[in-house]
Amino acid sequence: MRIDLHTHSNCSDGTDSVPELVEAARRAGLDVIALTDHDSMAGVASAKELAATAGIGLLRGIEVSSRAEHEGETFDVHVLAYGCSPDDRLLADMLEATRQARRRRVPEILRRLSAIGMVVSLEEVAARSGSADSIGRPHIADAMVAQGLAPDRDTVFRRYLAPGGPAFVPKESPSLDRVLDAIRQAHGVAVLAHPWSRGNDRLMTRSRLAELTRLHGLVGLEADHVDHTPQMRHTLKEIAGELGLIVTGSSDYHGTGKTKNPLGVFCTSEGSYAALVEGIESRKGTP
Ligand code: AMP
Ligand code: ZN
Ligand code: FE
Ligand code: FE
Repeated sequence: MRIDLHTHSNCSDGTDSVPELVEAARRAGLDVIALTDHDSMAGVASAKELAATAGIGLLRGIEVSSRAEHEGETFDVHVLAYGCSPDDRLLADMLEATRQARRRRVPEILRRLSAIGMVVSLEEVAARSGSADSIGRPHIADAMVAQGLAPDRDTVFRRYLAPGGPAFVPKESPSLDRVLDAIRQAHGVAVLAHPWSRGNDRLMTRSRLAELTRLHGLVGLEADHVDHTPQMRHTLKEIAGELGLIVTGSSDYHGTGKTKNPLGVFCTSEGSYAALVEGIESRKGTP
């Protein structure tokens, strides 16, 4: 079985529509995928139906934005939530607040871009984000690419939008502890997405991971991810073993938005998948 538990559609910043994503997964020979759009469950219901028709399994997911402090520094942390009840009010309100913060951030980023001579209008960004439920920096990057201001998303991030860049604006999001608690009370299970990507190895020490597991019900680590070196993947698996956490592997597919993340580039074992589903069922969630 080939199981890929981290994919994005154009309900957030992926470039495939939900039907295109399901079809791409089928063509890639995947047996199970999870749809994990940023701060949104908008695509999950239709993905579930389409996947059933295509003969593949679909696990309900969300990649939830959060923030955590460490030695006076604030880190962005992404949490993969699986099997949360779709009608849980507290989680839905938390996600809506983050989506609103995402929308408020766009004009601020555009002001900073225009201050350095890159004029991008809100209408151009809206044209790129289309009907996305959750707007992000990749949509701004796409608008700049469409205007010929840069060759691709990656270049826009490197030059302007990444932390330290001239148009970087931090995103407001709830604390990591609150996000983990909200996922648990929504009957889902939480796996840390790419725990050591982009410098987050400074934050996610073994003792911090132990605390998140003990106090906030963390169940897994996405050790196999293209943002990690082979050494990081090895060490994360050792820590997961020590803490009794489930190890997952996934692509973080964004369609053409990310070139290093083709579907199935990393997969999750059948045993890990079964353990996640068991965790969801024991919390009375909705896989
Ligand atoms: P945001 O959601 O607005 O904070 O933007 C973060 C999103 O941008 C994440 O989904 C990343 O996958 C994507 N991203 C971050 N860095 C890059 C990059 N260098 N190239 C393309 N996409 C990126
Ligand atoms: Zn993304
Ligand atoms: Fe992420
Ligand atoms: Fe992702």
